[in-house]
Amino acid sequence: SSRRSNSSVMSALRSNSCSVLTTFQKECDTPTPYLRNVADAIADDMLTGLAVEGGRDLEMILTYVDALPSGKEEGLFYALDLGGTNFRVHSVQLGGMKERVIATKSETISIPQELKIGTSEELFGFIASKLANFVAKEDIPARFRLEQGRKREIGFTFSFPVNQTSIDSGTVIQWTKGFKVSGMEGKNVVACLNEAMEAHGLNMRVSALVNDAVGTLAGARYLDEDVMMGVILGTGTNACYVDQKDAIPKLQSISSSGTMVINTEWGGFSKILPRTIFDQEMDEASVNRGEHLYEKMVSGMYLGEIGRRVLLQMCESSHLFGQSVPVKLSIPFALSTKDLCKMQEDKTDDLLIVGSILNKSLEVEANLEARRRVSEVCDAVVKRGGRLAGAGIVAIVEKIEKDTKRLSSGQRTVVAIDGILYGNNPLYQMYLQDAVVELLGDKLASHIDFKHTKDLSGIGAALLAATNSIY
Ligand code: BGC
Ligand code: MG
Repeated sequence: SSRRSNSSVMSALRSNSCSVLTTFQKECDTPTPYLRNVADAIADDMLTGLAVEGGRDLEMILTYVDALPSGKEEGLFYALDLGGTNFRVHSVQLGGMKERVIATKSETISIPQELKIGTSEELFGFIASKLANFVAKEDIPARFRLEQGRKREIGFTFSFPVNQTSIDSGTVIQWTKGFKVSGMEGKNVVACLNEAMEAHGLNMRVSALVNDAVGTLAGARYLDEDVMMGVILGTGTNACYVDQKDAIPKLQSISSSGTMVINTEWGGFSKILPRTIFDQEMDEASVNRGEHLYEKMVSGMYLGEIGRRVLLQMCESSHLFGQSVPVKLSIPFALSTKDLCKMQEDKTDDLLIVGSILNKSLEVEANLEARRRVSEVCDAVVKRGGRLAGAGIVAIVEKIEKDTKRLSSGQRTVVAIDGILYGNNPLYQMYLQDAVVELLGDKLASHIDFKHTKDLSGIGAALLAATNSIY
């Protein structure tokens, strides 16, 4: 009868939808032995990057930060923090060992989409104009007024891979996080900013060019001497750590004692990743195709989009939300990572939060069974991201351990982690930390302190401007 054939079609469709889901879950799975291989592969790439200059999966960029903030810094310093989504201006009044941070002020400005894919003049002109507005409103205490002939010093947090040639110069290696600014090939990032500041009549100079992970490490170190790593889990992802100079072969010719912060650019890792068809298709559609594959599985710009692609496939092959495919679900990036994480965290019996987010963001009505499947998709994406980030942290912690034996001698070791993805999602944090414990073992892991920091990358850059002041 037609009813029977109808219901067998339905059940075929349903098993189809299960098969999209179960296949996706299987492919996203990262059991401990597999994760161990990922950590080891990251560790191998770190060694390769430390041995040779440039062009590797992990660039292992020399930052020329060999002195981290100590607490003695004094004066008024500014910072510009150009991230993936926002741009921040800070002023920081530092009072030395006794007074420490006297006052800070900051302003957040969102970066207009067109500037992300415009020209360098447009981008830096915009930055300099916002800085000029900010500076004009400042009320500077007498003790911090500029002496004749001096310029105000700024730390520039530039959250993209830069081939750094000194603490205050470097060229963009590649753009990430949806940026593609033209006219910067081979150009010194600091010169671009200095020119724009001059054009806006600002009497300022960049004293430190720092990555956001490095700024986070510096800012966190100012508050806590045991900080050894800075990690960003936000729009994009990255990590940096304090290395021994004699463990950096490509540095050997310059100097070999003391330490230097290494910016890993781990987002570029690409080996043995649990890539699904959805990851591949998202990558194909990205402005940096084939690049930063680890970042595309771990960070906030991408998790929602992966989830959207899986749900779309489930709609097409099995009518996840009924006969028609919701229009919104076909729009790239229509599902935000924030919503994906909220759905993943929904602990209500009837998954009412999942239902209301699907309704609001994607304009679909989903029954309980559909909501369950959606929540499983979200969990697979978040869990894979958190665990992969954990594997990266382990690779770095083990490198630090090999050279310093900190953990085995019981010394507390702090990993400072910033970024909205990590900060807002307790389950992502849990998956990450579970992975670290699984791979390192309880004993070593017990000396690691994960510290969630907020907006330290700008303050850190101001501190590094002070450390590297030319006056
Ligand atoms: C960039 C890094 C940056 C990270 C976090 C990545 O896309 O390559 O330089 O630190 O995003 O903002
Ligand atoms: Mg940021």
